[in-house]
Amino acid sequence: MNVYDSSRLVALLETEGWKETDDLQSASMYILNTCSIREKASEKVFSFLGRLQKEKERAKKRLKTPIFIGVVGCVAKDQSDNIFKRAPYVDFVLDSQSYHKIFDFLKGPTEKFIKTNLPSLEKFDVLPKIKKTPASAQITIQEGCDHNCTYCVVPFTRGREISRPFTDIINEINHVVSLGAKEIVLLGQNVNGYQFKADNKIYRIYDIIKNIAKNPKVSRVRYVSAHPLEMTDDLISLYDGSIKCMLPHLHLPLQAGSNRTLKRMNRGYTKEDYFKIVEKLKIVSPDIKFSTDLIVGFPGESEEEFLETLEMVKQINFITSFSFIYSARDHTPALKLADDIDYSTKLDRLNRLQSALTKIQTNFNLGQKNTKITVFIEDDAIDKNFMLGRSIYMQTVLISKTDSLVDTIIIGKIYIVEITRSTPNNLYGKII
Ligand code: SAH
Ligand code: SF4
Repeated sequence: MNVYDSSRLVALLETEGWKETDDLQSASMYILNTCSIREKASEKVFSFLGRLQKEKERAKKRLKTPIFIGVVGCVAKDQSDNIFKRAPYVDFVLDSQSYHKIFDFLKGPTEKFIKTNLPSLEKFDVLPKIKKTPASAQITIQEGCDHNCTYCVVPFTRGREISRPFTDIINEINHVVSLGAKEIVLLGQNVNGYQFKADNKIYRIYDIIKNIAKNPKVSRVRYVSAHPLEMTDDLISLYDGSIKCMLPHLHLPLQAGSNRTLKRMNRGYTKEDYFKIVEKLKIVSPDIKFSTDLIVGFPGESEEEFLETLEMVKQINFITSFSFIYSARDHTPALKLADDIDYSTKLDRLNRLQSALTKIQTNFNLGQKNTKITVFIEDDAIDKNFMLGRSIYMQTVLISKTDSLVDTIIIGKIYIVEITRSTPNNLYGKII
């Protein structure tokens, strides 16, 4: 979502003549769009700010214009009081619902400026349309979250759950498709909780996907992050193969496999509920595969409870995953619980969990060696000899330019790729 927000902020700044640059030294404004989901992400902001301070000092000598440093996004909200204290050279701080107020700072008196009271989604009415899009375009459909998981800072940093008007979303999708987008990724902290009332109807994510599917120029649609409690039957029915752009893959954060931990996390479901959703989806889409998010070392998690998570991971066979050590965050209910598991135990659990997950992922990737699969070309790869693509299961596929049987590989197109090699994280292949 920060990538999406940044692209909208860039489009806004361009209306007043600003230009994005990769070159720190020539920049006259630095904006850090920040994440505070775990302490590490938040702390990175402060270390990077230290580096920017030096750039600012150097640039001041070189450039005639004033140099600004701004912090936007979730750390802006989470650490608002702290930022000017810890980094007094920062000029402005804007939370994720207020970054469109940047001109109030740039055009006003250039003293310290802060706006962090999370108003509604008014930014979407103010922000100009983007002018260029990647082949895989991200569109925010809802923001904030009302689930209140006890470990999570999102309800504080992004605010209460609000869904954008259905027609605004469809217009934005049509706009990015007219610019060349071929894949649409719907974004939200609780994306499948999307709900918008208009014309005596409640629009849900089902309606958005159905609408996208009517557009022949869109070849794939995805959504992140889904919550198990919002996996409604209408959404599940979309996996039945009747909609070409739906993939047999779902990222469905589980967090933990023990009912006691899930309860204390306030996730609102049991492991049995989660299994039921998986079963329902498998009936509708027998080839479907799952990926997930997991947390180890939540306060009070016993070894037995951790083993339940490990067991569930093996049973569901998550083909990819993000797993984290619990990180205590300010403004969260879990902060009141004793963070009682020592770091070495947390790390040991993370290692055991990740080695089980890597084993599943490695085997799954290996199973695709010497097969032919469909791959969406997302972009150039970092290594210029390859293009970066995604399988239907969202595996990274690196496609050799020299071995492929086509002269040019077109970004945004889907090709049949023969997989010649697999590693735990990537597939390698050539277009046939
Ligand atoms: N809305 C999504 C997740 C958003 S945050 C959901 O409900 O699943 C992305 C992931 O970060 C979470 O799924 C969780 O695994 C992890 N996470 C969030 N807060 C965390 C914390 N305090 N410590 C460790 N991991 C955390
Ligand atoms: Fe955070 Fe996701 Fe829980 Fe919402 S559902 S509180 S975003 S972890």
